[in-house]
Amino acid sequence: MIKEHKVTCIVCPAGCEIIARVRKNSIIEIRGNRCKKGVDYARNEVIEPRRVLTTTVRLENGHFLPVKTAKPIPRELIFKAIKELKEVRVKVPVKMGEVVHQNVAGSNVDVVSTRSWRK
Ligand code: SF4
Repeated sequence: MIKEHKVTCIVCPAGCEIIARVRKNSIIEIRGNRCKKGVDYARNEVIEPRRVLTTTVRLENGHFLPVKTAKPIPRELIFKAIKELKEVRVKVPVKMGEVVHQNVAGSNVDVVSTRSWRK
């Protein structure tokens, strides 16, 4: 059975409406994209959608530190990652870009600080 998925490419402001036809979890046709980037985007969205998670974790001083995953993680791991990060306590000082948690939700992706905090 062939399924059609409609995907809006967000790689650039053109926002192409892409149709991806899928049979047995394999892409058999992609149309509507104006460039090759749209092919990769649609394929990832349909087969294994991923997102960069941006959130906060607690510092040991009680404040919240903004963080993000260093790379996109599978969308189905987002809630598990948020739950896991609620338990994280980060020592200060911390530098922007520093890894504050490894392998979040078993994704093989680390979580990094998006700002520095001195004390
Ligand atoms: S397919 Fe290409 S042109 Fe269209 S939105 Fe994606 S990146 Fe932009």
